[in-house]
Amino acid sequence: MKKLELHWRILIGMALGVLFALVMVQFDWGPKIVSDWIKPFGSIFINSLKLIAVPLILASLIKGVSDLKDISKLSKMGGRTIGIYIVTTVIAVSIGLAVVNIIQPGKSITEETRNEMVANYKGETDSRIADAEKQRESGPLQALEDLVPSNIFKAAGDNGNMLQVIFFSIFFGIGLILIPEEKAAPVKKFFDGFNEVILKLIDLIMLAAPFGVFALLAALIAESPSLELFQALAWYAVCVLLGLALMIGVYVTLVYVFTKRTPSFFMKGMSPAQLLAFSTSSSAATLPVTMERVEEHLGVDEEVASFVLPIGATINMDGTSLYQAVAAVFIAQAFGMDLNFTAQLGIVTTATLASIGTAAVPGAGMVMLVIILAQAGIPEAGLALIFAVDRPLDMCRTIVNVSGDAAVSMLVAKSVGKIGEPKIKNWDDNLPKV
Ligand code: ASP
Repeated sequence: MKKLELHWRILIGMALGVLFALVMVQFDWGPKIVSDWIKPFGSIFINSLKLIAVPLILASLIKGVSDLKDISKLSKMGGRTIGIYIVTTVIAVSIGLAVVNIIQPGKSITEETRNEMVANYKGETDSRIADAEKQRESGPLQALEDLVPSNIFKAAGDNGNMLQVIFFSIFFGIGLILIPEEKAAPVKKFFDGFNEVILKLIDLIMLAAPFGVFALLAALIAESPSLELFQALAWYAVCVLLGLALMIGVYVTLVYVFTKRTPSFFMKGMSPAQLLAFSTSSSAATLPVTMERVEEHLGVDEEVASFVLPIGATINMDGTSLYQAVAAVFIAQAFGMDLNFTAQLGIVTTATLASIGTAAVPGAGMVMLVIILAQAGIPEAGLALIFAVDRPLDMCRTIVNVSGDAAVSMLVAKSVGKIGEPKIKNWDDNLPKV
C-alpha cells in the first residue's frame, strides 16, 4: 500500500467496501453487522473532517484576508469570485437543460410507473416538501439577515452556519488589516501557526481515508433499497451523468485556457478530494481536503484558496444546479407538461439562486428542487419520481460541486497573479513521519 498514490488507495477502499457489503447482504445478518460494526467508522471519518472545517475556515480566512494588506484587493477578489461562480452556475444549468431537452428521458415514463413511484415515495416526498416550505416562508432579505451571526460560537456549533463563520472570519481579517502592524503581527502569527496545524491534521485524517470510504460505501450499499425502479430512471440518470461529465469538461477547458494547466494536472491534483466528495456526498465535509489539494497540489496561493473555497463550498454548487435543471424538466416531461422557453429561462434563474441557498450536505439539493418545481408550476409530488436514484446522483453531483470550486479558485488566482507551482508533487512527501 505504501507505494500507491492516495487516489488509488481511496479507490481500492471504495471497491473493497462495495464488495464487502455485497457479500454481507447475501446473508440475512449481513446488513446488521455492517450497521453495527462498520458504519460507525464511516461516521467517525466524516465527523473528523467536519471537525476541522470550522477551525480551518477561521484560521485560513483570517490569515488570508490579513495577508492581502489592503481592503480594495479583498473587494476585487470578492467581486471576481462571485462573478465567476455565477457564470459557471449558469453554464451548468444551461448544459442540464440542453441535455434533458435533447434526450427527453421523462417521455418514456408510463403513467403506471409514475403512479407507482408517487405512491412508493409519498412519505419521503412530503418530508422534503415540508422542509422546503420552511425555506420558502422566509422573507426576501432573510439570506442577508442570516449572514451576520449574533454569536460566533453558535454559528460554529453543531447546527451552525458556515456562511456566518466565513462572515466573521473576513470581518476579523479586515480588523487585523486596519490595526497597527506591531499589534497585528502576533495575532497573524498565531493564526498562521494554527493554520499549519490544521493542514497537518488533514494529512493525518487522509491516512485513514481508504478505511473511511470503505466503511461509508459498505454502509451505503448494505442499506440501499432495491433498485427495481432504477430501469425506468436509467435515461434520467444518464442525462444527469452526461451533464456532469460535460461540466467537468468545461472546468478543465477553462483551467487550460486561462492558466495553461493541463486537464490531467487538474484531475490528478483534485482526485482525492473528488473521491471523498463521492463517498461523503458533502462538499462541506470535503472542504478541508479540497483546500489542501488546491493549495499544495494545484499551486493556488493560500490567500486566494482560503477565500474562494469556503465561499464556494457554501454558495457555488454547479453539479447540484445542473441536476436540478435536469430533474425539473424530467418531472415535467413525465407529467406530460411542455415547458416553453420562458419557463426554462425561469428554471435557469431559480436554479442559480437555489444553489446559493443549498446546504453542502447530502440530499440538500433535493429540498431546493421543491422550490424550483413550485416556481415553474411543476407538480411537487413529482419529486417521488427521482428518489430511487437520488443518492448515487448526489454522490456524483458533489464531485462536480467540489471540482467547480477548485477550478474557479485557479481562475481567480490567475486573475490576481497568485498562481504558482504546486508545493507538493508527491503526496507521500507530505506524510507525517509516524
Ligand atoms: N450533496 C451536495 C453537496 O454537498 C448538495 C446536494 O446537491 O444535495 O455539495
